[in-house]
Amino acid sequence: MIIDAHCDVLWKLWEKKVDFYDSEALRFNYLKWKQSDVKVQCFAIFVPEEITEEAQFSVALEMVSIFFEQIIEPYDDVRFVANRQDLMKLQPEEKGAILTLEGCHAIGSDINKLKTLIRLGVRIVGLTWNQANSVCDGIEEERGAGLSSFGRKVVEYLNQEQIWTDLSHISYQGFWDVLSICDYPMASHSNVYHLSPHKRNLDDTQLKALIDCNSWIGITFVPEFINGNHHAFMQEIVPHVEYIIAMGGENVIGFGSDFEGTDDLVTGLAEVTDYKFLINELCHSQTKETMQKLMCKNFVDKFPRQR
Ligand SMILES: [Zn+2]
Repeated sequence: MIIDAHCDVLWKLWEKKVDFYDSEALRFNYLKWKQSDVKVQCFAIFVPEEITEEAQFSVALEMVSIFFEQIIEPYDDVRFVANRQDLMKLQPEEKGAILTLEGCHAIGSDINKLKTLIRLGVRIVGLTWNQANSVCDGIEEERGAGLSSFGRKVVEYLNQEQIWTDLSHISYQGFWDVLSICDYPMASHSNVYHLSPHKRNLDDTQLKALIDCNSWIGITFVPEFINGNHHAFMQEIVPHVEYIIAMGGENVIGFGSDFEGTDDLVTGLAEVTDYKFLINELCHSQTKETMQKLMCKNFVDKFPRQR
């Protein structure tokens, strides 16, 4: 049983208008999900930056509709997960689906739009995508500014509502600004900078800080974040896992695949059904107990929203 903290299936369904049930254009569709070991999947609302500011929130709402109408409601064995209790009571034959937000550009500078998304079920909020927004700068914004006053309000609201604040994609300064005030920080899909020096990855001081505050880190399968190239092999993911565990991160590590987030290919891990190959590979170096933590236990233990 695996829990995966990030994929861009909603964006793909929104953009390509394909069928979630069995579209071969998807690396993650319903049939593949059923055949895989992934028990719970997080589905990100990701509004492309080219959407005009005025239209961004309505596109986010379109993706919420897609989540409920195409992923949850058609299937008796897919359950909407809104809290830790929901995670715990999933039956053996059931899958769980969690709604997340990738980038607060979708809320502009309106806290009520965030409140609405939380009421609709969003349980992980990524503060930025790569660019700047009203909350904070993203990692590709040259200015590199940290959290704004509005951003501080956003993090305080997430603390109050027991929602995970996702630090993947945030600027370096923003990362530290958020950590100093955030109750539930996590990084849903980022790897080890020391092994692959890409801006989107976490350096040793960031990894240590996340480990020290008992956070959660999802190892991701984007080739550029694995080895700096547009192609990777599944086996190259293993050192990223081992590195974080060697730093003392056994209790904070998990997976955030980013399936559908890139066209680049990881040979041996092209789609969700291939997760079993990675798990087999990791079993060579990790104990059964560590594997359990990595695959699902850490995520369940840390999931902030209790009820
Ligand atoms: Zn992303």
